[in-house]
Amino acid sequence: MSTINFLDLKTINQQYRTELINAATRVIDSGWYIQGSEVSAFEQEFYDYCGTNHAIGVANGLDALTLTLRAWKELGKLKEGDEVIVPANTYIASILAITENRLVPVLVEPDLATYNLCPKNTEAAVTPKTRAILPVHLYGQLADMPAIMDIAERHNLLVLEDSAQAHGANINGIKAGNWGHASGFSFYPGKNLGALGDAGAVTTNDDELAKTIRALGNYGSHKKYENLYQGVNSRLDEIQAAMLRVKLRHLDTEIAHRRAVAKAYLDGITHSDIVLPSWENEESHVFHLFVIRTSLRGLLQQHLMEQGVQSLIHYPLPPHHQQAYRDWNKKNYPITEAIHAQVLSLPMGPTITEEQVIRIVDLINKF
Ligand SMILES: *Cc1c(COP(=O)(O)O)cnc(C)c1O
Repeated sequence: MSTINFLDLKTINQQYRTELINAATRVIDSGWYIQGSEVSAFEQEFYDYCGTNHAIGVANGLDALTLTLRAWKELGKLKEGDEVIVPANTYIASILAITENRLVPVLVEPDLATYNLCPKNTEAAVTPKTRAILPVHLYGQLADMPAIMDIAERHNLLVLEDSAQAHGANINGIKAGNWGHASGFSFYPGKNLGALGDAGAVTTNDDELAKTIRALGNYGSHKKYENLYQGVNSRLDEIQAAMLRVKLRHLDTEIAHRRAVAKAYLDGITHSDIVLPSWENEESHVFHLFVIRTSLRGLLQQHLMEQGVQSLIHYPLPPHHQQAYRDWNKKNYPITEAIHAQVLSLPMGPTITEEQVIRIVDLINKF
């Protein structure tokens, strides 16, 4: 019996081995490794893909979020102490970007069916200090952006999408990254569009914001040796941009494969103690993760492991239970806590085979 890994990055990247080596060779032979033609070409290919006017390459997904909020502060649109609404069940990075800027995260309970920001709870959390909403397209599913943008317009709020898990997800053809006023993307190797190291980008249609983020990530400099801001060094490397240009060409094919795997799980799993992901809008989910929910999680995970199938938990501990945010440890978010106690992610990725999915479905139904 062979084991089925949760995600096999080696197999994924070996599909494109020749193309990746050619791209790496091109960079090595160019003699130009920071802020050159690979980065500008990738930025253009990525904003074309997302449908936005700009993409700004940065060092990673956390920086994409942090620098966008920082840019809004520099532009006078946010100030220290302003409240930012964010789902309580997100990955910690969404919250780190807020607190790093000395803004105040207001955690709201997600919608239990989609695990995404609940518009009703979002509206209820708006106070006179609220200045922004940070929806997260968790597990690869677009949040309810039409409803969130409607709330933002009525209350005059900025919207920063966390699109780290949702490259290519769309509603009515409008993709992740083109709904809010700006969006942060991660190209961490395990993401749906993954580099061979750390990388990230911001997309936006706002020219002034794009310019400011670009400067902030380059020591605060618009022009060589002239510094407008006390910036940081957060740039996308030429070599990673070259890898990403290869990977972007295959992204839609990989998404189609993920959706086919998801469909096989959804059609196949019939166990009555398992809640499957709700997938209403055909294009809104790119299945970065295939997440099921069950009160028997521990036993199911063990059962799968004994049969050689690796599953993971995204995430075991919610942000408000982390030591890093110990002031919040006594707060109660029952929906978020139920999610963290019950979710399990099944193997998912662009190289998982039909036979593997059939074996996993069979194991689950016999559990
Ligand atoms: C991965 C991830 C990030 C951070 O991206 P990095 O590139 O790892 O810094 C932020 N938000 C979410 C939801 C993520 O999944």
